[in-house]
Amino acid sequence: MIPGAFAYHRPKSVSEAVAMLADLGEDARALAGGHSLIPMMKLRLAAPEHLVDLGGIADLKGIREEGSDIVIGAMTTQHELIGSDLLAAKVPIIRQTSLLIADPQVRYVGTIGGNVANGDPGNDLPAVMMCLNAVYQAHGKGGLKRFAARDFYRSAFVTALAPGDVLTAVRIPVPGAGHGAAYEKLKRKIGDYATAAAAVVLTLNGDRVATCSIGLTNVADTPLWAEEAGKILIGSTLDGATVKKAIAAAEAITSPASDNHGPAAYRTKMAGVMLSRALVRAKARAK
Ligand SMILES: Cc1cc2nc3c(=O)[nH]c(=O)nc-3n(C[C@H](O)[C@H](O)[C@H](O)COP(=O)(O)OP(=O)(O)OC[C@H]3O[C@@H](n4cnc5c(N)ncnc54)[C@H](O)[C@@H]3O)c2cc1C
Repeated sequence: MIPGAFAYHRPKSVSEAVAMLADLGEDARALAGGHSLIPMMKLRLAAPEHLVDLGGIADLKGIREEGSDIVIGAMTTQHELIGSDLLAAKVPIIRQTSLLIADPQVRYVGTIGGNVANGDPGNDLPAVMMCLNAVYQAHGKGGLKRFAARDFYRSAFVTALAPGDVLTAVRIPVPGAGHGAAYEKLKRKIGDYATAAAAVVLTLNGDRVATCSIGLTNVADTPLWAEEAGKILIGSTLDGATVKKAIAAAEAITSPASDNHGPAAYRTKMAGVMLSRALVRAKARAK
């Protein structure tokens, strides 16, 4: 439970952090809230020789509206996401989801940037970001980079970020007015990672679904965007037969491992159950 030795660095700006990470090379890692990285170091699953702490960079903090997007600085904590009136009004699924991450102690320091950059398929925010069609902004040796959340995750803990890239912000297009959203998470007990979870953002035209986007957490080695399942539901009233078809389409793209959350087949089934609950709740919340 004791990490290996490392040197600690605390840059004051993004450009200083990028230069430091480039100079220090592959033995250096960015440090955000430390609530994924430090446990990995304690278990000796990660052994960076240098930690570049992003905590002193004021530009990486804050939540603001820019045109039709919400932009969230990478070092904004999960606790701050929960407390944001702007997010509650414009993208409430972020607050709903953040409340289901771990416990208050973790959320006080765990950041949105660390949660989405980590590449852990068990993290809750990545599937929500795929569902919302968010864009991740990063700075690296080549300057500014942008990645669609839907193309970002390659395999467990492998993302489109190159070594030394600093994720600076998450840009979220505000979903349509009157949209309904829900994140349903099955966990064994409070504070656990998901056995399976589903995010839904939909809009209605009368009693029919006009748009529908679905994300799934922890049922593959990456978070998933269930594009086909969402398409099946468009134009429907979320009647039983169509929902059943959509759930089958969502379950078909899962490939969870059998682990301490349960056997693979059970986790796939639970993804479907979470999706059906999220659809009911999102519809009830839509105006
Ligand atoms: C007991 C416990 C329970 C938890 N349960 C959950 C849960 O239910 N759901 C959930 O989603 N999460 C859970 N977490 C994880 C928690 O949300 C972490 O805070 C989060 O995964 C990582 O955010 P962080 O700011 O702590 O990042 P760190 O741990 O500092 O970093 C994680 C990784 O991302 C990289 N990184 C961080 N920020 C950047 C950046 N700006 N640019 C580039 N790379 C970056 C780091 O180099 C590192 O590789 C849990 C953690 C604990 C300790």
